[in-house]
Amino acid sequence: MEVLYFSPMLLGLNLLIAVAIASTALWFMSRPIPGPGYWMAGMWMLITGVLMFIGFMVTRSPVLNVLGNALQLAGEAVFLLGVFRFMDRPMPYWIIPVSVAAIVGFNLHYWINAGNSDFLMMIYSLIAGLLPAQAVWVLLQQRSDAATRPARLLVGVCLFLYSVVTLLRAWFSADAWLTGQPYTPPNESFSYLLPYNFAIPALVMGFIGVTLMTMQRILASSRALEEELKRLATIDPLTGALNRRSFNEHFDREMHGAMRRQSSLCMALLDLDYFKHVNDNQGHQAGDEALRQFSDLCRREARATDIFARFGGEEFVLLMPDTTLEGARSILERLLSEVSRIEVIGPHGPFSFNASAGVSICHNGDTLDSFMHRADKALYRAKHEGRNRVSVEP
Ligand code: GH3
Ligand code: MG
Ligand code: MG
Repeated sequence: MEVLYFSPMLLGLNLLIAVAIASTALWFMSRPIPGPGYWMAGMWMLITGVLMFIGFMVTRSPVLNVLGNALQLAGEAVFLLGVFRFMDRPMPYWIIPVSVAAIVGFNLHYWINAGNSDFLMMIYSLIAGLLPAQAVWVLLQQRSDAATRPARLLVGVCLFLYSVVTLLRAWFSADAWLTGQPYTPPNESFSYLLPYNFAIPALVMGFIGVTLMTMQRILASSRALEEELKRLATIDPLTGALNRRSFNEHFDREMHGAMRRQSSLCMALLDLDYFKHVNDNQGHQAGDEALRQFSDLCRREARATDIFARFGGEEFVLLMPDTTLEGARSILERLLSEVSRIEVIGPHGPFSFNASAGVSICHNGDTLDSFMHRADKALYRAKHEGRNRVSVEP
């Protein structure tokens, strides 16, 4: 057990255990983000492999050595699969069996010549150093997913460092093997100091990187969710027009703007004619489609400064800043004539429909209620005078 006194190996082992515990917490707290589950599994496999290797150093059991090496490489491969999973890339599952098979295959060599572990070390380090290269490539070349870019760079750099250190170790082992240097026990060997002193810190830093990457992903998705919620809260889902709540907000702003600019503000209430019949004759779905097409037309025809909203049922409202009453009347007349040209395909063949509109202009001291009351009065008159027309209430 003296090998563990003041040893980088013990420190390295403890660091790896710390990372494994932290990666378990990361997996638990970030569910269902894909990726952290692989990082957790990979880290625990790596730890188990390292523990087996320490067991081998104590017991000299070759089985522990073979299993330990295989588990360490498999753990590293699983960790890297997590990067592919996180980036939503095709998973190179083959890296697990190929790495394990390679190291187990070459480990048989150990039984033949127990003294020559430098050769084995070279093979192990070559595989372990090349494994992260793929992940580095995936992390650095992805152009989309800007939200995780800074953390991806960090993880990419850490894995690159890990790769370089591990390949250096392969180089030293190859040199020792080729020049026939006498076997040095792991705790005195430079090629063991390298991973414990440098590769494990790179791995720790890389783990911090993947944690940040996960947090950036979570932040970005909650931001998207927030925008979607905001949209849902202001838009009518059937027609895509503003809903009543957001119309009320817009109305306050427009009324204050009109008063400040001393400009006229007009409002039109629109109601589809005999819409009950449309539903009765063509069914509710065709009625919905008519509402959608009506709303699309109005939004297309409205100016960018106009506010168009679905007020409820088949009733809509169009608020027109900087518009005179006469201007509003002609806008609405043109609009209604275009509405009557809409043709909806219903279950009983194509049909068309009309709408009526009541228009009014904002007075000093108006509230939304008093303003709308006049527009409603005009609409009522338009309906009574035969529908499919515009009526104005000054
Ligand atoms: P009027 O010309 O007097 O306005 O006649 P109307 O039949 O349009 O008037 P009424 O207000 O009695 O009926 C409105 C109809 O609009 C009743 C309802 O079934 C229909 N409607 C309201 N909201 C929707 C909707 O979201 N989808 C569909 N398909 N129909 C709706
Ligand atoms: Mg109606
Ligand atoms: Mg109605």
